[in-house]
Amino acid sequence: MKGLMMDYSLTVTSLMRHVEAQHGGSEVYSLTVENPAHRTTYAEIFRRCAKLANALRRLGLTEGDRVATMAWNDYRHMELYYGISSMGGVLHTINPRLFPEQLQYIVNHAEDRFLFSDPLLLPLLEKLHGAFPTVEAHVLLCSREAMPDSSVPGLISYEELIEGESDSYDWPDLDENLASSLCYTSGTTGNPKGVLFSHRSTILHTYASGLADLISINSTDSVLPVVPMFHANAWGVVYSAPMAGARLVLPGPKAGDPEALVAMMNGERVSKALGVPTVWLGLLQYLEASGKKLETVTSLVVGGAACPRSMMVDFAERHGIHVYHAWGMTEMSPLGSVNAPKVTTAGLDPAARLEQQLSQGRAPYGVEMRLVDDDGDELPRDGKAVGRLQVRGPWVANRYYRAEESALEDGWFDTGDVASIDSEGFMRITDRTKDLIKSGGEWISSIELEDVAMAHPAVAEAAVIAMPHERWSERPLLIACLKEGESVDADALLAWFEGKVAKWWIPDAVQFADELPHTATGKVSKLKLRERFAAAA
Ligand code: ADP
Repeated sequence: MKGLMMDYSLTVTSLMRHVEAQHGGSEVYSLTVENPAHRTTYAEIFRRCAKLANALRRLGLTEGDRVATMAWNDYRHMELYYGISSMGGVLHTINPRLFPEQLQYIVNHAEDRFLFSDPLLLPLLEKLHGAFPTVEAHVLLCSREAMPDSSVPGLISYEELIEGESDSYDWPDLDENLASSLCYTSGTTGNPKGVLFSHRSTILHTYASGLADLISINSTDSVLPVVPMFHANAWGVVYSAPMAGARLVLPGPKAGDPEALVAMMNGERVSKALGVPTVWLGLLQYLEASGKKLETVTSLVVGGAACPRSMMVDFAERHGIHVYHAWGMTEMSPLGSVNAPKVTTAGLDPAARLEQQLSQGRAPYGVEMRLVDDDGDELPRDGKAVGRLQVRGPWVANRYYRAEESALEDGWFDTGDVASIDSEGFMRITDRTKDLIKSGGEWISSIELEDVAMAHPAVAEAAVIAMPHERWSERPLLIACLKEGESVDADALLAWFEGKVAKWWIPDAVQFADELPHTATGKVSKLKLRERFAAAA
């Protein structure tokens, strides 16, 4: 017997309607190139979404067409998020830090019809626009007055594009399974792969991500996504903060500038912020050097790469800020787990509690996890067995955009991560499959070694890679970047590992570097380190 409830589509459009009705007056603060403190409301953003949709219809956009953005986190980017998806188009967010060849591949693969770029990215656009034959019109995200001279044919300002348009639009009733947005994962090998989110997956992910044991957003929060809107939808916050009615604080091009971030966090009374560890490392160093404090932040969500122990301890002990460790990937919209305590956590002694907090946390309803060995046999959830982490759920990709084949194995998506899961459901990533170090037939966790290195007071950032070894097949090499004004020699740094990890895990050697290379999404690039150090061995 079928249930007799409404067939109500879960769409970005319906989210927009809800936010307009319930939280239209909530503020969105943005820092843009033109304006250090732009203030607007959700209601005003949605009015401008209608203008944008009218302009795109005038340009001939039809359902399913891809519209690309190369933009920072600000209100205009948010208008593109809601306006394009709600009219039936597909918002394609592009990471401008990718290599030019990757950008060319992505735009051509997606067959984007329109490209909206931030003015700061104009030099990049000037170089590349000829390589984007499918793009019919280029729009610069600024006012008519702020338009720079440019050689890009027909380049028009965003404000000019939308200014004459009506601020009402007859939003279509969309099927919830239609595509709403597209994001390519950088992929360390091969071409980038497109993850095509649906309205349904987006809304279900948004619903879950605001929950108390996930990102926990409520209407009194001021939320700062430092994580870019071009990377995995800023972890969904551009949807989940409005859904809850929270205020959004958007850092524009200043996401990598600790001084600007601290000023914004204090000035705009931010309660929660989200970003990758690299951003917080820079911010912690700035706080230490300047003696400044974060006055209103109560919690941070740290994910995208493993959160170092020293970071969690520093934030808690020196700044009274709780760090929630999160794990996910673009293919998962991106949230897979967040580390929120359980009743049983309260009974742990402080050291064991910290250990548990450092794990990547628990899967919410909507993400099923399992561990398998190399034969595909399921491993126990005992906190000890380590295997390939596989997931499934309504916001997990099943196939890449325009790929012939399914991305699944046996109905599960293989994350490429290696992990353990304990009996309480806390999952701990030990490595990426491709970053594992196999020494004498046994695995060594690079993440654990990096964590120990980064706890050393002189070390700013560290990475461990595998070096080929005649006898052991591979041995770990530590690459460390020191804090300004600090020093430690290789022997002392290696001695620091004694008693903290098994003796045979201790790296054989240390290389010091002025800085570590990062990927376009702000993670340490092991690929580049391997090219530089392992290949030279
Ligand atoms: P890319 O950065 O290549 O575009 P993603 O951002 O989707 O792709 O990266 C997802 C991967 O990042 C995960 O599979 C995992 O390896 C890593 N990752 C994400 N969060 C964490 C975390 N908290 N701890 C360790 N690794 C993480």
